[in-house]
Amino acid sequence: MSEHSEHDLLRELFPETAREWFGDHPTPRETLGLYAVADGRMALVSGAQLAEFTPLDPKGNKVLHCDLCHYTRSRSEAAVYRVLVSSRRTRYMTLCFGTESCQGRAGKEGVRQFAERIFPIESLYAE
Ligand SMILES: [Zn+2]
Repeated sequence: MSEHSEHDLLRELFPETAREWFGDHPTPRETLGLYAVADGRMALVSGAQLAEFTPLDPKGNKVLHCDLCHYTRSRSEAAVYRVLVSSRRTRYMTLCFGTESCQGRAGKEGVRQFAERIFPIESLYAE
């Protein structure tokens, strides 16, 4: 269907990660999900859209509330991430480090709802 899939997008932005996820498979089966990429960052993929989550340095030792699985987490289990949703707008989302089990707790519907809070984002690379 789409010529420029999330697969291509990921391959472009995070070539090593794309290779790890997709290997030699020509068509990834799931187009929605959150994936750990380099340097502690996370990538949220939904169809052909991709948002990058950059972890912030922890301040204080308050407990965190994960925006995806809604569990209360300690500072060693989660972090606050910065997401650029347009050239002028930034969102802050809290996510567990163990993203696989986090997404397992949230369920498919939870991940979908989370993605709806982020997307659509303005293209940051247009100018
Ligand atoms: Zn979580």
